[in-house]
Amino acid sequence: MKGLCIDLFKNYSLGLAGTAGVGTGTRSSRAFTHPFQRRRSNYQNQKHFSSSKLTCSSYSTKPCSATLSAVTAEVEEAKQTFNPEKAGLLVKELRKSFNSGRTKSYEWRRSQLENIAKMLEEKEKEITEALYKDLSKPEIEAFISEIVQARSSCNEALKELKHWMVPQKVSTSITTYPSSAEIVSEPLGVVLVISTWNFPFLLSLDPVIGAISAGNAVVLKPSEIAPATSSLLANLVEEYLDNSAIKVVEGAVPETTALLEQKWDKILYTGSARVGRIVMAAAAKHLTPVILELGGKSPAVVDSDVNLEVAVRRIMAGKWALNNGQACIGVDYIITTKDFAPKLIEALKYGLEQFFGKDPMNSKDISRIVSSTQFTRLAKLLDEDKVSNKIVLGGQMDEKQLKIAPTILLDVPEDAQIMQEEIFGPLMPIVTVEKIEDSFSVINSKPKPLAVYAFTNNEQLKKGFVDNVSSGGMLINDTVLHVSISGLPFGGVGESGMGSYHGKFSFDGFSHKKAVLYRGFAGDSDLRYPPYTPEKQRLFRAVINGDIFTIILALIGWSK
Ligand code: NAD
Repeated sequence: MKGLCIDLFKNYSLGLAGTAGVGTGTRSSRAFTHPFQRRRSNYQNQKHFSSSKLTCSSYSTKPCSATLSAVTAEVEEAKQTFNPEKAGLLVKELRKSFNSGRTKSYEWRRSQLENIAKMLEEKEKEITEALYKDLSKPEIEAFISEIVQARSSCNEALKELKHWMVPQKVSTSITTYPSSAEIVSEPLGVVLVISTWNFPFLLSLDPVIGAISAGNAVVLKPSEIAPATSSLLANLVEEYLDNSAIKVVEGAVPETTALLEQKWDKILYTGSARVGRIVMAAAAKHLTPVILELGGKSPAVVDSDVNLEVAVRRIMAGKWALNNGQACIGVDYIITTKDFAPKLIEALKYGLEQFFGKDPMNSKDISRIVSSTQFTRLAKLLDEDKVSNKIVLGGQMDEKQLKIAPTILLDVPEDAQIMQEEIFGPLMPIVTVEKIEDSFSVINSKPKPLAVYAFTNNEQLKKGFVDNVSSGGMLINDTVLHVSISGLPFGGVGESGMGSYHGKFSFDGFSHKKAVLYRGFAGDSDLRYPPYTPEKQRLFRAVINGDIFTIILALIGWSK
């Protein structure tokens, strides 16, 4: 019976994805690997989208003991799940809250941010546990890369909010004299944040912090691929935040599709470029602006003049100690010279043993692969004939535990799939070039990556990277850390995304910059009004050209 229930659910999910016209079979069945998520969504709908307190076991026992008709009823009930109509009601409800003006006040924004700070303080354990359930994320990694980052975003917003909200004065010109002008940051309205699974807590909360700081009402759609974190976020938002203006909708493709049919005032999407295109197409129907936080193949270039021990540690930290390579800014592949490659490989082998011991498959300090879909995808990348014989370290896999050992490959052919798509896992190809400067053309021959890391002591080479290589961000002599600088925008370019956030960029990303000019009633010159005379035209030209002498002549009637 259990198998039958699951099959029915799977079939249903495929059908739904088909009608939505956006899902693939793989995606849809993935969505139903977490049936609890669907159950929660149904329950949420009944409760007007508030998050539920259902426990996992209360759902999972149900289909197993159900009769066939009960299962059919369940499928029917599932069809009533979060649909465009319900999504429409949700947006309407939030728009009402936004239109009341409450979210615009400094006090409301501050109180929500304070509650987020409190939540991060009080629920650290729950957050860490959820991340462990979803990804076996080591506690310290979860703390540093998700909780601390979210905390610092929130604290910065609390510290700077007042300044960010102050209108920015700009100078005016003689054509409007006397006048003053300013740029007013106004909230956009009701915004949607769609998040992904690899840093499922931070990448959900961080944009929400920006949306709240800017005074918007916001719906968060966390990733169904990280169900424990998604569920926790739904509960925490309900417990800590103003639910009339901040909501979580859990679910997979059908729920996201229903949300995307609505008119939003901004959408921030984090995930793959494939879905990014779906999001942008849906947004275009309503002329909704988007921020797309996508990925790409981010390389690390290693010159031969570096401190190899430090460089290797930093590369390993930006690959395997960062969610086991499942990170948008993780190192995707390395480029080095042919001569230097053997030295680099030896250093990596030594470094990996220092980090994860002789048997990395049993290390507690490394995350697992998030799902069997991702595991199969990675296994396929490695299985290609022209790839599997290039492994110089690692290659072990345990499908049951969803574990893949840190794996290094040397000189994989460029047309192999592993060099064509973002790896997003623990596989690390090393590409060799004759001269290190050849790395520019290797990187530039591919779509623009989210990050480029260059390890070198050569000042000219550093400048060469900055001047000649286009990427979302760039970091010289380290990996990943550039995203911790809130004064730097975080975002991609080209295939790696558009728009950015972090720090004030988040506030700006969720604000409209309204141009406001103030004038009084004095100084109302005839010049701009009909009837138009040659004198007026002369004076007007003089004013436009800023020619003070001609202006004076014109004013006293002496101009030609
Ligand atoms: P995912 O499968 O979790 O998808 C992300 C979101 O899109 C989820 O909320 C999901 O429900 C939704 N979604 C999936 N398919 C959809 C569809 N057909 N229609 C509508 N919505 C849909 O995540 P993913 O796509 O596997 O994420 C991995 C990618 O994300 C990688 O390319 C990675 O580089 C990128 N990423 C980027 C950043 C960044 O900040 N730039 C951060 C993390 C990950």
